[in-house]
Amino acid sequence: MTTLEAIETGTQTLMQNIGRRITEVLMGAQVPEAVGVCRECESPLRQVDLHRSRSITGIFGDYDWSRPYMVCPKGHGSEAPQDRVLKRGAGQVSPKLAAILAR
Ligand SMILES: [Zn+2]
Repeated sequence: MTTLEAIETGTQTLMQNIGRRITEVLMGAQVPEAVGVCRECESPLRQVDLHRSRSITGIFGDYDWSRPYMVCPKGHGSEAPQDRVLKRGAGQVSPKLAAILAR
């Protein structure tokens, strides 16, 4: 026999783990059709890392994934085009979690 608290805690942990894993897999599957261009000079971006690691906190916990990382050949900075597709935002918190926290 167990308590309701233990049942809810176990179920919550299970759902968090499943949600986190599904989110990470789907984030990794969002591949931009094109490499992308620099937002400032529109030069094609040059890939410098195929698997740049990234972590972000979302409603299912901490998501870890890797994605291609690019730089502007004219020195206007860098970006991961996959982040733009995901509309991940600039912070360490997912847009969904950020909206919940703002309430
Ligand atoms: Zn540029």
